[in-house]
Amino acid sequence: MKIHEYQGKEILRQFGVTVPRGIPCNSVDEAVKAAETLGGPVWVVKAQIHAGGRGKGGGVKVAKTLEQVREYASQILGMQLVTHQTGPEGQKVRRLLIEEGADIQKELYVSMVTDRVSQRVVLMASSEGGMDIEEVAASHPELIHQVAIDPSIGLTDAEADDIAAKIGVPAASIADARTQLQGLYKAYWETDSSLAEINPLILTGSGKVIALDAKFNFDDSALFRHPEIVAYRDLDEEDPAEVEASKFDLAYISLDGNIGCLVNGAGLAMATMDTIKLFGGEPANFLDVGGGATAEKVTEAFKLMLRNPGLKAIMVNIFGGIMRCDVIAEGVIAAAKAVSLNVPLVVRMKGTNEDIGKKMLAESGLPILAADTMEDAAKQAVAAANANA
Ligand code: GDP
Ligand code: MN
Repeated sequence: MKIHEYQGKEILRQFGVTVPRGIPCNSVDEAVKAAETLGGPVWVVKAQIHAGGRGKGGGVKVAKTLEQVREYASQILGMQLVTHQTGPEGQKVRRLLIEEGADIQKELYVSMVTDRVSQRVVLMASSEGGMDIEEVAASHPELIHQVAIDPSIGLTDAEADDIAAKIGVPAASIADARTQLQGLYKAYWETDSSLAEINPLILTGSGKVIALDAKFNFDDSALFRHPEIVAYRDLDEEDPAEVEASKFDLAYISLDGNIGCLVNGAGLAMATMDTIKLFGGEPANFLDVGGGATAEKVTEAFKLMLRNPGLKAIMVNIFGGIMRCDVIAEGVIAAAKAVSLNVPLVVRMKGTNEDIGKKMLAESGLPILAADTMEDAAKQAVAAANANA
């Protein structure tokens, strides 16, 4: 799960990390009022979307007067902000963060991720923070420093000080940097984050260390113990089909292709997508209906796939282990009748009560293309999608 920058900063603040004073807003008038409340000569108007690269896309502007705050807020609010993380269609800006301006002397980079190889939280840091960190990582990987943190001890003073010195924090500011890094680690650990990034972490003219940006991702499997994080969820920022899927407990991910896949089991779903690609097709989605799929769940799964206007064919691939093939057949028939199915449907099922299931499909009167093997099913789905394109 992702959250907004202003929410990330609320978390950081709770863990003792220094962040600028700021006020989230939903309208231009609120933005101007927020700037008045904050006071001061300089403000920053920041688009709040669940994607990075906002600065380069025109979603972060420094204002020197209240008139400029109004001007930038009206430009940014409602815009379709395109960044390297949003895709070409961009993301609509529905919220702003108005912050007091900071006196930036140097932009640093720090982040934490859980590293599966070392099985530890790894702190990454660089002297070259700011908007070109991806470029630095690609062309100067030696400028990114790392430390794998021992979970039984946490980020030690020595580790924090060492990495701060490596990224060019001057001696007088090392203690301040240590507070920020240890606060970030604590925030990461206590909230079950999977990613926490501060870019830039800045050094100010007076030697203070401040987090100017905050990006957090959380481990979905741990959200059950963090109602305070779940409360930050912003459905406007998520794929509508995926939001709908989560209501029915379906594991669904939208993809770019045109062949819908309905499968039981994550492994089989992955193999099905691979097989479609092997025969020259492109899956429109990943969809695992799970082991206990009911006719109702299968119907909802069909509705989800059919929301996609680019859908050209559907491939159902079911292994009937605990799940019986006749139950799936019943679901497929009910779903195909309930939704107006307007694309070719290929069904392959194997396992318990396979014969009964196949017979039900054949006698349903629906234009279903039956397949025996995965190869056969994928080839038929690809051919049907191409014919329908
Ligand atoms: P991102 O592009 O989505 O990562 O958004 P950031 O929050 O990192 O903002 C982009 C850039 O705007 C930063 O790298 C800074 O250079 C600049 N910026 C952000 N806040 C301030 C500020 O308070 N004052 C000034 N002068 N620049 C800022
Ligand atoms: Mn940033």
